[in-house]
Amino acid sequence: MTEKYDYLVIGSGPAGYTSAIIAAQNGLKTAVVERDPEMLGGVCLNEGCIPAKSLYNSAGIFDIALNNPGICGSDIRSASSCMAPFVKKSRDAANHLRQGLSFLFKKNGIDVILANAEFVEAKTVKLTSSTGGAKTVSAEKFLIAAGSSPRSFSGMPFDGKKVISSSHAIRLEKVPGNILIVGAGAIGVEFASFFNIMGAGVTLIEIEKRILPAEDSDVSGRLDAILQKRGIKILTSGKIENISLGDFDKVLIAAGRVPFTEGFGLEKAGIKTDEKGFIPVDDMMRTNIKNIYAAGDVVATPMLAHMASAEGELAALSAAGKDAPKIDYSSVPNAVYSHIQTASVGFTEEKAKAVGIDVSVGKQFFKSNGKAVVSSETEGFIKIVAEKATRKIVGVHILGVNATEIIHEFILAKRKGLTVDDISGTVHAHPTFSESAVDAARSVFERPVHG
Ligand SMILES: Cc1cc2nc3c(=O)[nH]c(=O)nc-3n(C[C@H](O)[C@H](O)[C@H](O)COP(=O)(O)OP(=O)(O)OC[C@H]3O[C@@H](n4cnc5c(N)ncnc54)[C@H](O)[C@@H]3O)c2cc1C
Repeated sequence: MTEKYDYLVIGSGPAGYTSAIIAAQNGLKTAVVERDPEMLGGVCLNEGCIPAKSLYNSAGIFDIALNNPGICGSDIRSASSCMAPFVKKSRDAANHLRQGLSFLFKKNGIDVILANAEFVEAKTVKLTSSTGGAKTVSAEKFLIAAGSSPRSFSGMPFDGKKVISSSHAIRLEKVPGNILIVGAGAIGVEFASFFNIMGAGVTLIEIEKRILPAEDSDVSGRLDAILQKRGIKILTSGKIENISLGDFDKVLIAAGRVPFTEGFGLEKAGIKTDEKGFIPVDDMMRTNIKNIYAAGDVVATPMLAHMASAEGELAALSAAGKDAPKIDYSSVPNAVYSHIQTASVGFTEEKAKAVGIDVSVGKQFFKSNGKAVVSSETEGFIKIVAEKATRKIVGVHILGVNATEIIHEFILAKRKGLTVDDISGTVHAHPTFSESAVDAARSVFERPVHG
């Protein structure tokens, strides 16, 4: 007899697992299908956010010790000898969280099926396990959360040896002598920063005019200067054809990711995809087929784990017939975990002006922040873009070691339509990096206290 669920989720990444848990908590009989047992939790947990940030964190600790001989003495070995233990630590973190996720599935009564899912028609999937066994399962509603894979360059397929993707880079146990990183978006910049600390010669090439082209130009310009000062060679407006690949031990292609929407029968269920392979959805994450939802990297919204979770949650609530607020895509944060981090929300100064908002801008540098001084981490600033007429925050752009933590009060402020006065009128703890928010907010229309 064919098994039957209320809600069947294809893919166990942030979109899939969040959706499954919310659906189960709202009374739906739920199953999650994951084709690769080693990938339970998806890219973020196994090959992305978690192991990558573990590596950057280890490298960051090393970097602090290396650059502060007064703290540790000068007898520090080269970072390259730490590569294998750093990678082991990152794999341990991923394994730990994968076990935690299995526990959450169990706790919420969710069936986990380790198999490849393929639609047979709009209410039935065929599940094939890695050992070849197959069965069909039906469900009232489905979520497609199959994620994405690294984009390759034509004529330069990934071979896992010289031409590698982030999935390979995350597991490299030896620091390459020289590495070319193609693409200076978040993933490219993060790996460039990491391999630089680990002692590799790094060349970063970007086809656009500047690194992190989607970020505010003040942030990307300053980060470019910081990375170059640390020895990273950066080529903007660059083309890979003009580079001699023989000069490099590794070529890491970090030129974006493509949605994973082919090869598992979407056409048999009648699901449409667009010309880039993304699945079009409405504002409740419904595809063109009434009972089938899609969320995460398979839809044409920012390819971020927190975006995937939010979309997965919305899909589950909708499938369970609950009222759920639509996602405010204008308040979704970006974060880049280079040694000096960047974080942002809302419009850049350039974009705000381009769409006709009359804005004023305030900037507060961390060099006048007490916590930054005692931490020897004075690089960077908080830049606030606010509408002149209403004093409402329309965008915030942060460069600094703790940027990805500091951004959150601004996300809330932006989402709730708060003003710079709401930020500057809130007492912040001292000494903290976050207290620079007060002076940054003051400096949009008045003068800061520190600076
Ligand atoms: C190096 C790197 C660093 C990153 N860092 C960050 C970060 O710091 N912050 C951030 O927000 N985002 C980060 N991301 C992006 C983030 O990982 C993705 O946006 C997120 O994982 C997308 O989640 P998802 O649920 O859509 O899909 P995924 O996480 O890709 O999961 C999809 C799952 O579906 C499974 N699957 C696919 N097809 C089938 C099928 N037919 N049957 C069964 N199972 C199937 C796959 O095996 C996979 O496990 C990073 C990505 C990379 C590569």
